[in-house]
Amino acid sequence: MEQRIYHGTITPNDIARELVSYFNRGNFRVQQIGSGSQVAVQIATRDHPASGGQTALSVSIQDVSDGIQIQVGNQAWLGVAASLGMTALSALRNPFALIGRLDDLAQDIESLQLTEEIWSVIDGAARAAGAGHELSERLRRMECSYCGTANPVGEPNCIACGAPLGDVQPVTCKYCGFILKNNETACPNCGKLVA
Ligand SMILES: [Zn+2]
Ligand SMILES: [Zn+2]
Repeated sequence: MEQRIYHGTITPNDIARELVSYFNRGNFRVQQIGSGSQVAVQIATRDHPASGGQTALSVSIQDVSDGIQIQVGNQAWLGVAASLGMTALSALRNPFALIGRLDDLAQDIESLQLTEEIWSVIDGAARAAGAGHELSERLRRMECSYCGTANPVGEPNCIACGAPLGDVQPVTCKYCGFILKNNETACPNCGKLVA
């Protein structure tokens, strides 16, 4: 289950809308479950039975304090009845509970390509909304621990009182948007080297 964070003014619906309009064609079947702060979009190929029991690629999107967090992974296709009830939503809150239901789709190279395609649609939608893996302007404002003044990121000293700020500035992984601690050389989320 791959996870990325997009910082900025962007909502789960912005991404869901893009995914649904992009994949609702040709060989794909797509459905959106939920709205507001927590949305899931499931994408499967047409030959999957609609009744459920098969896995689909599921994109789970939720609000976080500085933007949205997105997970893409395999999950059981939630049947139409299930998608209307709370059962589906509570299952989505624990996506890992369904991981055990992986089937051949996970090993299918086509599914890997589909995952790439999904991420590129998400990237495009995020970019269009002005969101990305960098911290948003709002989070980049750092509060001075001495005087409480908000400082822009990159400022070595507090603009009001001059206290040093260097060590506490947040940075993000450029590959997935995860917020990193200063001394981390590998991203704890995606494992890529960030130093
Ligand atoms: Zn200060
Ligand atoms: Zn990362």
